[in-house]
Amino acid sequence: MSAKVIDCVAIANEIKEELKKEIEECKAKGATVGIATLLVGDDFGARMYRKQVEKFCEEMGVEYINENPPVDSSEEDVVNIVKSLNENKKVSGILPLRPFPEHISDYAIINSIDVNKDIDCFHPYNMGKLTLGEITFAPATPSACIEIMERERLNFEGAEIVVVGHSNIVGKPISLLCLNRNATVTTTHIYTSMAGNLAKHTTGADVLIVAAGKAGLITPDLVKEGAFVIDVGINRVKVLDENGNPVLNEKGKPKTKTVGDVDFEAVKEKAGKITPVPGGVGAITNMMLMRNAVKACKLQNGLL
Ligand code: NAP
Repeated sequence: MSAKVIDCVAIANEIKEELKKEIEECKAKGATVGIATLLVGDDFGARMYRKQVEKFCEEMGVEYINENPPVDSSEEDVVNIVKSLNENKKVSGILPLRPFPEHISDYAIINSIDVNKDIDCFHPYNMGKLTLGEITFAPATPSACIEIMERERLNFEGAEIVVVGHSNIVGKPISLLCLNRNATVTTTHIYTSMAGNLAKHTTGADVLIVAAGKAGLITPDLVKEGAFVIDVGINRVKVLDENGNPVLNEKGKPKTKTVGDVDFEAVKEKAGKITPVPGGVGAITNMMLMRNAVKACKLQNGLL
């Protein structure tokens, strides 16, 4: 039987409506929900993400500030921009967009963000609180995974949850959030694969959360019958014809498409529930960021 495909766009729209009401309530009390992005230079991926943030801020009636110093700005100049955003009452949340240029240390920038404006939980203080289960802000993508599982009424207690990927921004915090809910969590990564042990872990998973950034990594043989599969990966791949040759566009260039880390069509026939890509975790991630910006506004204005 084919898996239930989770309609993440519908979930995101529901959350959006809930948040719009909260944003209006904040405004009525004289408090501003606002997001500032900080991009140093013009990295393509970061610019694309910034566009999305700008768009959903506009759609939801939220203040948006775009800080975009040139690529050769000094670290001190960038820290000073963060300090001024920390003081700005119209900014409830600050979102640094990485990568920063090589001469600028991630830590210098992230450590200068006011911990009450750190809406994607980059600051070590907020990551420490997350580890202890005393959360102010959980990072957006891991929160989106939790939101999906909660809306599907997963009983976390004792559930076997396997996470593929252990990055500081996705895999590791997902594992911690599941552990805080008393799931039995296994975190796997490149060394698990290199040791030939990935299938050993993933085939025991009631819930398999994949955040590796490798298209086609998860095939049906790695999935337990009836498992709940959450695909966080976002990869651009060439579109191939039935002979495996690239399909060209009207300009003679290979056509591309966005896929996750899971072989969706094949795994869908074995899993119990599955999230698609595109239109999956990413759609909800944006709303989790906005939820944190609303929470930050309330925190800063004594409304919590
Ligand atoms: P990342 O920093 O590159 O981390 C990838 C993780 O996967 C690393 O822990 C890596 O292990 C592990 N890994 C790589 N190949 C593996 C393999 N063959 N087997 C097992 N583990 C493997 O990436 P990220 O920032 O965490 O993002 C992961 C994916 O999620 C990317 O595709 C990204 O575009 C996507 N993403 C989606 C959203 C969303 O909202 N949907 C948000 C953020 C990211 P090592 O560290 O040991 O090498």
